[in-house]
Parts: sequence; C-alpha cells; structure tokens
Amino acid sequence: MRVGLLFGGCSGEHEVSIKSAQAIAKALASGDNQTKYQVTPFYIQKNGVWLGPEASQNVLSQGLPLGDQPVTPQQRWQFPSAAAQMDVWFPILHGPNGEDGTVQGLFSLMQVPYVGSGVLGSCVGMDKLAMKMVFEQAGLPQVNYMGVERGEIWSNPCVFPALCDKIEAQVGYPCFVKPANLGSSVGIAKVRNRTELEVALDNAASYDRRIIVEAGLTDIREVECAVLGNDNPQASVVGEITYDSDFYDYETKYTDGRSQMHIPADLPPEVVSKIQTMAIQAFKAIDAAGLGRLDFFYQPATGHIVINEINTLPGFTAFSMYPELWRASGVEFPSLVDRLLQLAVAYHGQPS
Ligand code: ATP
Ligand code: MG
Ligand code: MG
Ligand code: MG
Repeated sequence: MRVGLLFGGCSGEHEVSIKSAQAIAKALASGDNQTKYQVTPFYIQKNGVWLGPEASQNVLSQGLPLGDQPVTPQQRWQFPSAAAQMDVWFPILHGPNGEDGTVQGLFSLMQVPYVGSGVLGSCVGMDKLAMKMVFEQAGLPQVNYMGVERGEIWSNPCVFPALCDKIEAQVGYPCFVKPANLGSSVGIAKVRNRTELEVALDNAASYDRRIIVEAGLTDIREVECAVLGNDNPQASVVGEITYDSDFYDYETKYTDGRSQMHIPADLPPEVVSKIQTMAIQAFKAIDAAGLGRLDFFYQPATGHIVINEINTLPGFTAFSMYPELWRASGVEFPSLVDRLLQLAVAYHGQPS
C-alpha cells in the first residue's frame, strides 16, 4: 500500500509536525510495516506550497523547516504529481490547515482514505467553542466559559470596556484566554487582572476571529487519555503531565526537561475508569475517528473531573503522549501506525 505522509503545514505547530512525521516514517520502515507499506513524504511549506517526494525527504531527513518564500496563487493550486498515486494518506499536520478539516475535505473530495477524523470531527475538534458546545450537549462536565469575537475586541473601542466587564462578571479571575482554533498553547494566556485581560484578548485576536475565555482552575492535575478506533473506539491507560511553570505553555511543552509524563498516572481506579468513559464519550460526541487525545483536569480535593479538549491529530513524535499511552497499553509505536492505517481504510473506503 502506498502511504502519503503529509507534514509541515501552515500552522504554528509546523515544527512539531516535522518531528511527528519523522517518527511515523521510521515506524513504517520497520518490521512488518516495511513489507506492507511504501511511504512517500509530502511536505507542506509554511506558505502552503506542497513539495514533491524528493524535496520532502530532505526536510524529513534534516528535521528543519524550509524558509518561507512569497507564493503565487498558481503555486497554491499545484500538487506534486506523485500525490495522485497514493492509496492512503497519513496527514500528521497539527493545528490549523491540517487538523481542522481542511485537508480532510481535500482527501474526501479526492475519494482517497486518510488517517483520522473526517471533516466534521476534525473541525469541531479544532474549534474550542464548537467543541465545548458539543461536549455540553453530551453532558460532559466542563469549566465555565464565554465566547468572544475579534470584532468585539478590535473594531469598536467603545465596546471593549463593556466586554471586559462582562468577562469579569461571567468568568472572573484567574481565567484563560485562548484563540479558538489553535494548539500547542500558542496564543493562550493565563490572566489575573484587567490589564492582563486586555493584553491577552488583543493577542488572541491576532490569531483567530473566534476567542474563548475560560474560568481558570487551580489545584488541578492534568491528565490525558488516548482513544483509538472508529465505531468501537478503545481508551488507553491514563497519563499525567507535571511541570513547574504556571501552566502547560508552549515553552514548557517543547523544552526538554521542563515537563514530565507519568504513565500510567497514579490515580484511584474509579477516577481512571471515569476518565476513560468520558474520553470515549467525547470522541464519539464530535464524530471523531481513528485517533484522538483527550485532555482532562482532575481536582483531587473535590474529586471533580472536567474535560478540557480533544486533539484529533495529537503530537506523534517518538516521545509524545499519544503513542506513549498506547505503548503502556500494549500497542507499540509501529503497530499503532499500522492500526491507524487499517482504520483509515476501513473508515474512509477501500483504496483504489
Ligand atoms: P494542545 O497542545 O494540547 O493542543 P491547546 O493549545 O489546545 O493545547 P489547551 O489544552 O486548551 O491548549 O490549554 C493549554 C494548557 O493551558 C493546559 O494544558 C493547561 O495547562 C492550561 N489550561 C487551559 N485551560 C485551563 C483552565 N480552564 N484552567 C486551568 N488551566 C488551563
Ligand atoms: Mg489542543
Ligand atoms: Mg493540539
Ligand atoms: Mg491541550
């Protein structure tokens, strides 16, 4: 089976995507996978231009993004001819323009199977406001939150103080201000007063039209659960992330030694099974498929578990939480990649 490995992308998570692709390419070239799959890499530059297999392989080998050059509309419509030969795609693009249904729409239109959720699951999973509305309908416990539009922040200076008043009244401090469609904590700020709120809203608005403000939880443990499957998805063991910083921000996520993963997390068995049940419920609620990493907050003092979010194309490097959770659950990295490709074909149709 010819596998198109799609990575990079117009996203703040471009660099992480390259690392994920390296790990997946290695897994597809090992053991039984080697005889089952033939991998062809396709790199999407930060400017949106797709590179052919040879240039993409260079990026993959070096692990560094290519510089961004100006691009013409014509170039954006040009796909490497080898793309038409793929039987199945593994898009390992994190964040906007890849995890959000855009690439999924392209492959659906081309009628070629791909790893992960379809258009609906991907876009609902990416947009934190849409996601929270769906989770709410599914009866999943969440933090108190409020949606804000960029227009309320930027277009009318008279409206802005009233907006801040409303946030203070409805959400209060501390709160988290987030662009609705992003990942890796890009554009997210923890806010404790009015001045910080104003700065955070302005900054979040530079990333997205849609912004979410959430009540900030304190004294929580951050726990994550991996889900694998289509119609009958399974949950992995639960893992925990610890760190010294104020919250799990970009730097903490991607600087060696700043955060620790604990797999499995040291939690009471009833908390684990509740998290696993909620993970599958949330996965199904947004119509996810293939894979998803569900992030939760557990408050030991009260025993409350709230769902934070789903990531439909979670970090997939050799040290990422998603594959590590499955390794601890008995699925090694290469067989995980194999399972995902089989699930892709089963869900999105047989290869031509
Ligand atoms: P990912 O890289 O997992 O996709 P993301 O960019 O989608 O992350 P979130 O997971 O929503 O962002 O938030 C990033 C981090 O901010 C969390 O892991 C947590 O440390 C902190 N955080 C977010 N929301 C809250 C909240 N409501 N209360 C307390 N901490 C929060
Ligand atoms: Mg996320
Ligand atoms: Mg993410
Ligand atoms: Mg998260």
